[in-house]
Amino acid sequence: SEERMLEYHITLFGKNERLLLVRDCTKMQRLERMRQDFVANVSHELRTPLTVLAGYLETFSDYADELPPRWQRGLALMSQQSARMEHLVTELLTLSRLETSEFKAEATPIDMGPLLATIRTDALALSGHKHNIVLNVDEQLQLRGSINELRSAFSNLVFNAVKYTPDGSTITLSWQLDNQGAQLSVQDNGPGIDNKHLRFLTQRFYRVDDSRSSQTGGTGLGLAIVKHVMLRHQGHLDISSCIGQGSCFTCHFPASLIYTPDFI
Ligand code: ADP
Repeated sequence: SEERMLEYHITLFGKNERLLLVRDCTKMQRLERMRQDFVANVSHELRTPLTVLAGYLETFSDYADELPPRWQRGLALMSQQSARMEHLVTELLTLSRLETSEFKAEATPIDMGPLLATIRTDALALSGHKHNIVLNVDEQLQLRGSINELRSAFSNLVFNAVKYTPDGSTITLSWQLDNQGAQLSVQDNGPGIDNKHLRFLTQRFYRVDDSRSSQTGGTGLGLAIVKHVMLRHQGHLDISSCIGQGSCFTCHFPASLIYTPDFI
């Protein structure tokens, strides 16, 4: 009764010979769906108790002055860790929604200029104004898509550039035409990433340097979210990097999602 999922591979041999390989992926797909459902349910169930804990911790923090110093430190640590867990659960839920949605992203016109300016302001606040963030935006070039998903994807890239580059680094955010449609790139002049890591970066929970990522409050889910947002916009994420010179994360969008307001 279940619809079967088959994968075909055809290989050419010499002039007339072909090898046809058929793989039945039904079971794999069913397991993947079970994994996605499990993650979605667990994240959802964790959310309520976490909200209660965070609420009480906040109330107790108001009276922290009345506590002995050792307890104050404990309370601060509990608040910090519960915020981290809330962030993880939110990202897990975001990712599982993106993975399981059967619909393409909505295609609402988005004013890229204001969106990128807001992300820049938030990123500067995160950096404590210690990074230079340059905006290089073609104002005539607009995108159709889901503003919430795109805001989350672009913010992830810009916040990563802040988190993983030292103070004083320059981050350039460019929105421009490319030969397929248009591209949003986030370039930094930070430490860069060894190329052997690049193809794993969009996998869930993959981190180049676990200790550094934990310090920055990372979950290892950010780039997986970006990848899925791009897939839902019929686009893709390209990553290039050079040790000692910096990294560049580019979101490519197809021409079908790009328009210039003059032509409306
Ligand atoms: P995290 O939550 O750990 O930031 P991400 O999926 O967003 O997870 O990123 C995966 C890893 O890629 C990070 O842990 C970090 O090691 C690396 N990374 C991401 N952006 C940059 C960057 N701009 N410069 C250097 N390393 C980066």
